[in-house]
Amino acid sequence: MYIKKEHILAWLKDCAEIFVEQRDFLTQLDTDIGDADHGLNMNRGFERVAEKIPSIEKQDISTIMKTTGMTLLSSIGGASGPLYGTFYIRAAGVVTGKEKLNLEELVAMLTAGVEGVVSRGRAKIGDKTMCDVWWPVVDAGNAAIKLGLPLEKALELMVQAAEEGVIATIEMQAKKGRASYLGKRSIGHQDPGATSSMMMVQSLQRIVSA
Ligand code: ADP
Ligand code: MG
Ligand code: MG
Repeated sequence: MYIKKEHILAWLKDCAEIFVEQRDFLTQLDTDIGDADHGLNMNRGFERVAEKIPSIEKQDISTIMKTTGMTLLSSIGGASGPLYGTFYIRAAGVVTGKEKLNLEELVAMLTAGVEGVVSRGRAKIGDKTMCDVWWPVVDAGNAAIKLGLPLEKALELMVQAAEEGVIATIEMQAKKGRASYLGKRSIGHQDPGATSSMMMVQSLQRIVSA
């Protein structure tokens, strides 16, 4: 079982649809602890990514991921543009020339992505950011590799880790980004960026298991 290039393309298109459907929900989360634009940002960014797909679908996974990152970087303002942009660009860097990914390669790709986010945003685990989803997802992936689980089962565990990661952000006090300006008042709210990251992981699992 592999994640094929076609899965990656379908995933990005599915993300574009999800961020239409979830735009208002994500923006509402960002109204509570930010500046009420996260859904709009994700919607605009992935709309541009979806527009680019016809021109990159013959390329390898790395080029597709890199183009996605550069598109997000240039079309989303605010914190999440550079952070998600860096996620995809760094992820692209470890899958050069690949047309399909096994579980090890997928986890390596996501690890490079979240390391990129950290190099840019310096968030630690527990700071109430998207990293509170991506690190548990990577951990779940590595645990699945150790257990020798098949890709589909691994993705289920990664989704579960993402969902738990989002829930865990509710009780965290934000230490990075706009939400950190609220201090203790950021406690009790679900982080918007962690939520959009979870949606990406859920989408990948759905696409690959379809
Ligand atoms: P902005 O805050 O500039 O309006 P968005 O609303 O689009 O940008 O994105 C906010 C999300 O970005 C937060 O919910 C959080 O998950 C994420 N974020 C903010 N700062 C950081 C950081 N330093 N590292 C990782 N993620 C961050
Ligand atoms: Mg915002
Ligand atoms: Mg903003």
